[in-house]
Amino acid sequence: MKPQQLTILGATGSIGISTLDVVNRHPQQFSVFALTAASNVEAMLPLCIRHQPEFVVMVDETAARQLRAQLPAHLSTQVLAGSQALCEVSEAAQVDQVMAAIVGAAGLPPTLAAVKAGKRVLLANKEALVMSGQLFIDEVVKSGAQLLPVDSEHNAIFQCLSAAAQAEVGTMSLVDEGISKILLTGSGGPFLDLPLAQLEQQTPQAACKHPNWSMGQKISVDSATMLNKGLEYIEARWLFNCQQAQLDVLIHPQSIIHSMVQYADGSVLAQMGQADMRTPIAHCMHYPQRAASGVEALDFTRIAELTFVAPDLQRFPCLRLAQQACWAGQAATTALNATNEIAVAAFLNNDIRFTQIAEMCDRILQSITPRDFGDIDAIIEFDQQVRVQARDLIRAVA
Ligand code: NAD
Ligand code: MG
Repeated sequence: MKPQQLTILGATGSIGISTLDVVNRHPQQFSVFALTAASNVEAMLPLCIRHQPEFVVMVDETAARQLRAQLPAHLSTQVLAGSQALCEVSEAAQVDQVMAAIVGAAGLPPTLAAVKAGKRVLLANKEALVMSGQLFIDEVVKSGAQLLPVDSEHNAIFQCLSAAAQAEVGTMSLVDEGISKILLTGSGGPFLDLPLAQLEQQTPQAACKHPNWSMGQKISVDSATMLNKGLEYIEARWLFNCQQAQLDVLIHPQSIIHSMVQYADGSVLAQMGQADMRTPIAHCMHYPQRAASGVEALDFTRIAELTFVAPDLQRFPCLRLAQQACWAGQAATTALNATNEIAVAAFLNNDIRFTQIAEMCDRILQSITPRDFGDIDAIIEFDQQVRVQARDLIRAVA
């Protein structure tokens, strides 16, 4: 069989590198068409040499120039610059699969370009779906793109669905499937048991030290505030077409179960595995087949216990805000995502304290009036407005 041509958006990131690790294990099945990154030349150069993609996109022009100068002469890889090129390598006719693994709202345009071109889209970039919701799903339906969830929880839920439901991501009927509830699990992050009074003084370094998963900085901070679980709650709502009563969050500190689906007859299906993103990535890349991912099977004799507890919304106000925003409409979820991106960047830069991330999200959400968006451009414009408002707020509080 002809190898699948793959574009990896965000190739130098944590998900991008794990995706290339899976590619390495199956050289006959996958061929890298394009790799993209924001600006990290040092990280991109060895990936180009190893995978010899047809195209590389560096969003930053200077980085693109530097990479061109450093590429060995025997490589025919073309280096493109600018964010428009991200869309071009996502929608190119040769491409079969697009791994959407850019962090944040910057991933929306190229992910959507892949969707509109009817590709198989492996969605890690949850922010893209959170900020565009129904409009994103509408585009999936319109183009017939195959949307597969990479986020470990959503991938777990997907694995616990019937084949018929798997073919209808975004539009399935949970009731017709006999599903009474989706149970989204989360570890609770590094601050699950920290005395509440100490939350305020937590440093970026402490926030990024996740007990179970190794991830990029932004999602690591989101895991510490549990806004990551909040974004995932919104992501699940769209992927699995949930009503409010059909979606719950459960803390499971061991991260062995990656999420569960509860059926009307009382059965609960769970997907389990190591906390290693290569499992959901390989699942999506090979779907509906199964293939080696480099991840070892669980050894149940070494698992002491599986525990579960309801999330403490006082400790994790960001989770509460996201759950409220989810049912308040698109303006709320777009605004929450934009504010959080600005707040997390400010926290990582030591401009605001850890607890101010939630305060900022709360302040901005309170100022939002519900509204509808006719198209994605209107959403992106609104996202930009909220970012200006959020930056003003930082100047006022920092
Ligand atoms: P990361 O920070 O490690 O990597 C981000 C990638 O995006 C890099 O290649 C970077 O160059 C690129 N990028 C950053 N800003 C960009 C911009 N403005 N324009 C174009 N490219 C840009 O992030 P990550 O941890 O790999 O996460 C990527 C996405 O996957 C996020 O949406 C995250 O929520 C999701 N995700 C990650 C994990 C994980 O384990 N890391 C798990 C589930 C979901
Ligand atoms: Mg996740």
